[in-house]
Amino acid sequence: MSSAPDSRESLRVAEPQAMKREMMQEKTGGMAGRAPGVVLLVGGGHAHVAVLADWIAHGVPGGARGVLLTPDRYLRYSGMVPGWLAGQHGQDEGLVDLAALATRAGAQWMPGRCAAIDPEARVVTTANGHAVAFDIASFDTGGEGRGAVLLGADPRLLEVRPIDALVDRLANLCASRRGPLRFVVAGGGSGGVELAFGLRNAGRNLAWADPRPEVTLAAGEGGLLPGFAPAVRQRVARALARQGIAVIAASARFEDGALMAGPQSLEPADCVIAATGSAAPGWVQASGLATDAAGFIAVDAHQCSPSHRHIFAAGDVAARIDRALAHSGVHAVFAGPVLAANLRAAAAGKAPRAVYRPRRHSLYLLNTGDGSAIASYGPLAAEGRWVLALKHAIDKRWIAQYAALARGA
Ligand SMILES: Cc1cc2nc3c(=O)[nH]c(=O)nc-3n(C[C@H](O)[C@H](O)[C@H](O)COP(=O)(O)OP(=O)(O)OC[C@H]3O[C@@H](n4cnc5c(N)ncnc54)[C@H](O)[C@@H]3O)c2cc1C
Repeated sequence: MSSAPDSRESLRVAEPQAMKREMMQEKTGGMAGRAPGVVLLVGGGHAHVAVLADWIAHGVPGGARGVLLTPDRYLRYSGMVPGWLAGQHGQDEGLVDLAALATRAGAQWMPGRCAAIDPEARVVTTANGHAVAFDIASFDTGGEGRGAVLLGADPRLLEVRPIDALVDRLANLCASRRGPLRFVVAGGGSGGVELAFGLRNAGRNLAWADPRPEVTLAAGEGGLLPGFAPAVRQRVARALARQGIAVIAASARFEDGALMAGPQSLEPADCVIAATGSAAPGWVQASGLATDAAGFIAVDAHQCSPSHRHIFAAGDVAARIDRALAHSGVHAVFAGPVLAANLRAAAAGKAPRAVYRPRRHSLYLLNTGDGSAIASYGPLAAEGRWVLALKHAIDKRWIAQYAALARGA
C-alpha cells in the first residue's frame, strides 16, 4: 500500500489551449448539446463496480452507451488473497463477475487493455490497437507492479500486480522438491505483511504447503507498516516473530543474480514476491492529463481531472491533488458511489457536485493467517479471532452484494 504524495505543487497541467477548451466543456458539460454518446469505464476496479451497480439501479447516465474496457471477466478482491493462501477461502471465492455486471447495467464489456489515451480527441487505444471513442471516460485500472524496477530482474521474482497473475503463479508452484519452499516477500506495507502471513500458513489447497514454507519479510528501510500506529506495528512484529517469519529492515535487491538486503544475503530463496507498492501506468504519463509527481492521474475531490473535465479517475491509478491519500482498496471502494454520481452529472451536462471525503481513519484488518487478525484504526489496535471473523464478514458481504447484482437478484 503506497502513499500518494500531496502533489498540488507538482501538478503537470495540460497545454493552455486545451485548458481553454476544457473550461468551455466544463461550462457546457461533457455531453451537453450532443446526442447521447459514450461513457467509457476503463478498468474493472473496486470503484467501477460501484458505478456499474449505479447503472444497474438507474440506467447508463444520459441515455448514453456504456462501455467497460477491462482485460479480464473477473475482478479479484485482493483483500481475500492472503486468506486464500492460508486456506481460509477457495481460489475463486473473491471474484466479482464484471461481464455479468456490465450486461445487467445495459453496458458493453469490451475485453482489452488501455495502452494510450488522447483526452483531446477523446480516444482510448487498446494494447491490440483498437481505437475506442468516448465522450466521458473514467479510469480505475489500479497501478502497475514495480518490483523488477526496484529489485532488478530475476526469474524468481513475482509481481503482486496484476493480482490474478500472482494467484495463478502461486497456485501453479508445484512441490517438486523435498524441503520446504523458501519465500522472500519484499515490502513491509500491509500487503507484504499479509502475504508473508498467508504464505507461512499456506493451506492444504496449495500443493507446496507441506512442509510449511519458510518466509522472510524484507520490509525496507522504513521497517514494518510505515504510517501505521506504534500499537499496530508492535502487534504485527510480535505475531511475525511468534510464527517464525524473519523480518529484515532493509530493501531486497538482486545483485549478480543473488538476492541481497543491505550487506546480507537472503539466499537461498525459491520465490521472491514484490509487494513494493504500485507505479503509475506509462500511458498516463504520455497522455497529457494532469498527474501528480509520481505520474498518477490527478483528481480533485469530485474524482475529476483538473485539466480535462470530461475525464474521471478513482482507485490506485488516481491521486488526489487537494490532500494526501494512501492508495488502498478502502478508498477505491468508498470513492465509487461519488464517482457514479459525478459521471451522471457530467452526462447531464452539469458540473460534478458529489465529493469524496475520506474518514479521518480507515479500518484495516490484517489477516495473520493463523486464524486470527490484527485491527488498525488510527492510533488503536486490537487482535484476536473475532477480528478475523469481522474481516471475513466484511469481505464476504462486499463480494455477495456484487454476486447478487450479477445474478439479477
Ligand atoms: C495482498 C494484498 C492485500 C490487500 N488488502 C487490502 C485490504 O485488506 N484493504 C485495502 O484497503 N487494500 C488492500 N490492498 C490494496 C488494494 O488491493 C488496492 O489498493 C486496490 O486493489 C486498488 O483498487 P483499484 O480499483 O484501484 O484497482 P484494482 O483492484 O487493481 O483493479 C484494476 C482493474 O483494472 C483492470 N486493468 C488493469 N490495467 C488495465 C488497463 N490498462 N486497461 C484496462 N483495464 C485495466 C484490471 O484487470 C482490474 O480489473 C491489498 C493489496 C494486496 C497486494
